Amino acid sequence: MYAEEFMRSRSQVFSKSEFDIGRTDVLHHRIDRGDNVPHFERLRRHPTCQLPVIDDHVEDMLRHDVIEPAASPWCSNVVTVRKKDGSMRFCIDYRKTNDLIKKDKFPLPKIDTCLGMPPTGTELRELPDEARVLTAQWESLLLRDDVLYRRFHHPDGSTRHLQVLLPGSLRRKSVEELHAELGHFGQYKTRLAVLQRAYFPGWRSFTNLVVRNCTVCNQSQRSMQAPRQTALRPMREFRPMAVLHADLIGPVVEGKNSREQRGFQ
Ligand SMILES: [Zn+2]
Repeated sequence: MYAEEFMRSRSQVFSKSEFDIGRTDVLHHRIDRGDNVPHFERLRRHPTCQLPVIDDHVEDMLRHDVIEPAASPWCSNVVTVRKKDGSMRFCIDYRKTNDLIKKDKFPLPKIDTCLGMPPTGTELRELPDEARVLTAQWESLLLRDDVLYRRFHHPDGSTRHLQVLLPGSLRRKSVEELHAELGHFGQYKTRLAVLQRAYFPGWRSFTNLVVRNCTVCNQSQRSMQAPRQTALRPMREFRPMAVLHADLIGPVVEGKNSREQRGFQ
């Protein structure tokens, strides 16, 4: 949806018909032929059936200001090429002319190489924090079937596998489900399981938080410890300024303290 809006808002840059080609005054182009003499060739005969096609096209180009009448020492012939759909394409045989002019030879960088380079300078500074963390690991990132992965290298070089880069919206659910599937193991084993499958900046503390917040884990009493999470205890959240919801359950008993202040217990 966003892409469509973006393209519509800039619709003037797209050509809507064959002669809707626009013109720029930003740059003036000059063709450099060096010391070569102009190329002039005798007009070729065209099959009679093609003459109306050529005339129509020349008329159209004149009308749309693509060409103008000229008396020039340069002359190249019109050629018509049959298109796949049977209609004729109007071309001009500029091959000899092109041989006489100097080509602009700018060393354009390869697009693949440009796109494969990590962002630098201002572009890097303007990235969100998380993207900067990922940029620092550019060499380890890998795009496969439109999914972004990170190559995991164990410090001792033993384990090498791909971790899928989890988008923000899937992190909590994925880690929670993984933790539950494992059978509610603790932080260390849950982290190990995440490490083998997925990656995102801050995944370690995020995983620890998921385990600490797990309702199932918190309800089960271990050895002599009291349950770690009961009603009306501080709730931990994942992000600053997150919106928390709590259900109040009643009935709430009214009472008073030693100083006779009344309130709910
Ligand atoms: Zn759990």
